[in-house]
Amino acid sequence: MSEVKVPSNFIKNIVIEDLESKKHSEIITRFPPEPNGYLHIGHAKSIVLNFELADEFGGTTNLRFDDTNPSKEEDEYVNSIKEDVAWLGYEWDNLFFASNYFEEMYKRAVLLIEKGKAFVCDLSAEEIREYRGTLKEPGKNSPYRDRSVEENLDLFERMRNGEFQDGEKVLRAKIDMSSSNINMRDPVIYRILHQNHHNTGDAWCIYPMYDYAHPLEDAIEGITHSLCTLEFEDHRPVYDWFVKECEMESVPRQIEFARLNVTNTVMSKRKLKQLVDNGIVDGWDDPRLPTISGLRRRGYTPDAIKSFCREIGVSKSNSLVDEQMLQHFIREDLKVKAPRVMAVLDPLKLVITNYPEGEVEYLEAENNSDNESLGSRKIPFSREIYIERDDFMEEPVPKYHRLYPGNEVRLKNAYFVKCESFVKDEDGNVTEIHCTYDPETKSGSGFTARKVKSTIHWVDASTAAEAEFRLYEPLIDESEAEGDFLENINENSLEIMNGYIEGEVAGAKPQDKFQFFRHGYFNTDPKSENSEKPVFNRIVSIKSKFKISK
Ligand code: ATP
Ligand code: MG
Repeated sequence: MSEVKVPSNFIKNIVIEDLESKKHSEIITRFPPEPNGYLHIGHAKSIVLNFELADEFGGTTNLRFDDTNPSKEEDEYVNSIKEDVAWLGYEWDNLFFASNYFEEMYKRAVLLIEKGKAFVCDLSAEEIREYRGTLKEPGKNSPYRDRSVEENLDLFERMRNGEFQDGEKVLRAKIDMSSSNINMRDPVIYRILHQNHHNTGDAWCIYPMYDYAHPLEDAIEGITHSLCTLEFEDHRPVYDWFVKECEMESVPRQIEFARLNVTNTVMSKRKLKQLVDNGIVDGWDDPRLPTISGLRRRGYTPDAIKSFCREIGVSKSNSLVDEQMLQHFIREDLKVKAPRVMAVLDPLKLVITNYPEGEVEYLEAENNSDNESLGSRKIPFSREIYIERDDFMEEPVPKYHRLYPGNEVRLKNAYFVKCESFVKDEDGNVTEIHCTYDPETKSGSGFTARKVKSTIHWVDASTAAEAEFRLYEPLIDESEAEGDFLENINENSLEIMNGYIEGEVAGAKPQDKFQFFRHGYFNTDPKSENSEKPVFNRIVSIKSKFKISK
């Protein structure tokens, strides 16, 4: 059992009740993704809920691939899903594939036919839609509804044997065409699809529909609490009907909770796939995507993602969560964990004219002033350094306290420097600035004789390493609710900068994380391991407007 306590919520209350009343002696949950894409942060909410709820009460959780639709499912997705769940830190008790239950599902469908509760229907998909009626009007019975049990058994077997074309026939449950719940109006159970399946190959040419397959999958595995998102609320009567009429021994209970939506992004595998397929992003793990693999490459940690999921909690009303809330949790996590080093993203050379040529000294720098255990390092300092281009202004605007001719600033961990002059090229661009330093002002020396208004960061030019920095903005301008999301793509979602980092940081391993002083938290890009210079993805900037309200 884990230490983590799931915050109180209505689902947890149901579980507690069911254990206390001895309805169940053990709870069993499942995370049931369809392997038709990569997992996203919305799935993380479901993963955290299912695994932590079972874990808290000593129960078990299955990872089950809901692979009943061969046209969209692939092994690549199966593998990525396993990797992502494991990376989040969860161990499934069982790994199952719904497709392994196809034979069992077929037998239960035969049972429904024998009981007169299912029939083979020859209406086309369009006719079925027409016959179904609307919210205001009841549906009409299919003309095939009264086929005899014998005929239905024969036709269903022939469907399985491949005697019919795709779409020619379906198997439908016989429930109630006048039900006020449209989902109960003789839903389709099986359709014909001559297609290769990632797991069962060509063994089947009929495939069960979600509404039929899902309750059976849950019942076969003995799932006690089947947690799904709110849009399935209206499907619950169908879920319960199949469990009962298929005479499943174990009776799972479906409970719905609100889907997670986050601002400025899209949150559905279908839409994410469009972004990937259209080349708008660099694969499913593009750091701008809310996929688990994208968040990982961006630099999010499992702890940050899980804390976020626990904080948003579980409720019955859909809501849109501000992406800044997710960012809040990675800042919290890295604030004490990540070493703080210096990087210059847009370099401008600064020459210290009164510093001896050829000399290098090593200055003491703490690795994280909020976490002594990260220790300190020695950073080289010499006559030539790089600073940020925007830390110098030829003619300062009001309230600008950084470098300009005649002004003095502190170099982080080093000395005060005063700007004496600058050099321009033929085009009028400043290429170099010349300063003098005051040896008395060394950081840590206790110098107080005069003060400066700014501290800027820098890197030593002779020992710095070149690096690429990738800065991100939201991929989508507005929330996905409005209009076609493909028309709201932010053209400036990726900005690439080339600059310098402290020499030592160049040896960073993939996924090593840093705070670059004044710039934010960065992750060493795992896909650029073999590129000439290291690549750093900005996870988030330092400052946040966001506050968690307690
Ligand atoms: P998508 O539209 O992104 O494909 P889905 O619901 O079809 O989502 P599944 O693979 O069927 O994806 O989902 C697996 C589980 O994750 C389901 O139990 C589903 O309810 C849950 N889930 C999916 N998206 C979210 C979300 N945004 N918030 C909470 N749970 C989600
Ligand atoms: Mg789906």
